Amino acid sequence: MSGMSKLNDQGVTYKVTKSDAEWQKELSREEFYILREKGTERPRTGQYDKFYPKEGHFVCAGCGTPLYSAAAKFDSGCGWPAFDKIVEGAVVTQTDRSMGMVRVEIMCGNCGGHLGHVFEGERMTPTNERHCVNSISVKYVDEPLPEGKREAKVLPKSEPATRQSLLAELLGKKDA
Ligand SMILES: [Zn+2]
Repeated sequence: MSGMSKLNDQGVTYKVTKSDAEWQKELSREEFYILREKGTERPRTGQYDKFYPKEGHFVCAGCGTPLYSAAAKFDSGCGWPAFDKIVEGAVVTQTDRSMGMVRVEIMCGNCGGHLGHVFEGERMTPTNERHCVNSISVKYVDEPLPEGKREAKVLPKSEPATRQSLLAELLGKKDA
């Protein structure tokens, strides 16, 4: 546990918190590697890569929280499931500005499980946002999204993804 590090850009506290040992009991070896150790499945191998259901939704494989509707899934050709919007508030980001580039990790906002990364500005869909998600991080459910769930982008509408974390750094969260 690295208690000092910022958990996510949104400052969300995860409702589900378990030790690695507890997660290991519940998850398969692959699920643990990807969800808890931030691993990545090999491209074009995931069970949902070429799966385009007309209805239903995808939940977090770690805690069952609804994350993406079937309608949000699109063919990006990148080798992993791609979604262009989230169930509002269900996904959080963590911006990594180390190594001279910006990478925005996406995680389940309920348990912190690693989903993949989000990219913007590619003009693939009207939201201009691509969530590149491991199949293993999610599970398809053949039911509509729970009542009252709205969908939205995860990144701020008018601001670049880096703005928030840059602000946080300026406000004194600078890492050594
Ligand atoms: Zn979760």
